[in-house]
Amino acid sequence: MGVAVLQARLIESREIAPEIRHFVFEVPEVEQLPYLPGQFVSFSGMFNDKKITRAYSTASPPWRNRFELCLNRVQDGFFSPYLFDMQPGATVDVKGPLGHFVLKNPANDSIFVATGTGIAPFRSMLHAHLETNPDRQFTLVFGVRFEPSLLYRAEFEQLAKNYPNFLFLPTLSRPTEEWSGLKGHVQQHVIETLGERRDMDVYICGMKAMVDDLRLKLKELGLDRRQIIFEKYD
Ligand SMILES: Cc1cc2nc3c(=O)[nH]c(=O)nc-3n(C[C@H](O)[C@H](O)[C@H](O)COP(=O)(O)OP(=O)(O)OC[C@H]3O[C@@H](n4cnc5c(N)ncnc54)[C@H](O)[C@@H]3O)c2cc1C
Repeated sequence: MGVAVLQARLIESREIAPEIRHFVFEVPEVEQLPYLPGQFVSFSGMFNDKKITRAYSTASPPWRNRFELCLNRVQDGFFSPYLFDMQPGATVDVKGPLGHFVLKNPANDSIFVATGTGIAPFRSMLHAHLETNPDRQFTLVFGVRFEPSLLYRAEFEQLAKNYPNFLFLPTLSRPTEEWSGLKGHVQQHVIETLGERRDMDVYICGMKAMVDDLRLKLKELGLDRRQIIFEKYD
């Protein structure tokens, strides 16, 4: 994609949880989109005569001229309601790939931490990198409020079965009584996963409040800032 503005055409979008949709776009002008898993694209459009630009993490590993996104509808927002209403075949201006939220190369044993749609870049990274890093341990700590909002749950459970180097730790902050998995916020589970180890990288993606809180806790535990890689959505 580079810095040029291209047209992304919607192939399909489907609801995967309440108020959350998975999108598949393609860019017909190119054969290949050279992004790294975890990078984001930048959409722009005119709203009330004003140009609005919004970033969205790629949720799929690079494949031909396609990319997938995972979005929640922000009530009274500009771009997310627009994308939710978009029909297949419609196009949107896109720039990218952008950003540095990518797996280090070579990778260390890593904890991926996501809340909500912050899962997007990790879906991309895990599909791309589990296979190629069999000697590295990856743990995904994924926090949402309610069980139905555990996005791509079946996929991550399948990856955990297929790859002994991948551990999937979903946690609910508002569990029902039937839920027997982890409870509470991601922060405490990341710290437990880390244990006595200080040689792991922690990748964090989601809203500012969670990201900043966890970064602070990890620094207090003695992690170097180069071991804490993050992407904030707001
Ligand atoms: C690098 C980067 C990657 C991003 N990737 C994604 C992604 O993969 N999926 C995604 O859904 N969003 C993502 N976002 C957020 C996205 O860019 C927009 O901010 C979001 O869609 C809201 O835009 P809007 O025009 O609909 O709402 P606006 O009119 O801009 O309203 C913004 C309000 O919504 C809040 N907000 C922003 N993002 C979210 C969110 N995800 N959930 C709830 N509230 C939010 C902000 O704090 C602000 O108060 C990303 C942001 C960045 C900076």
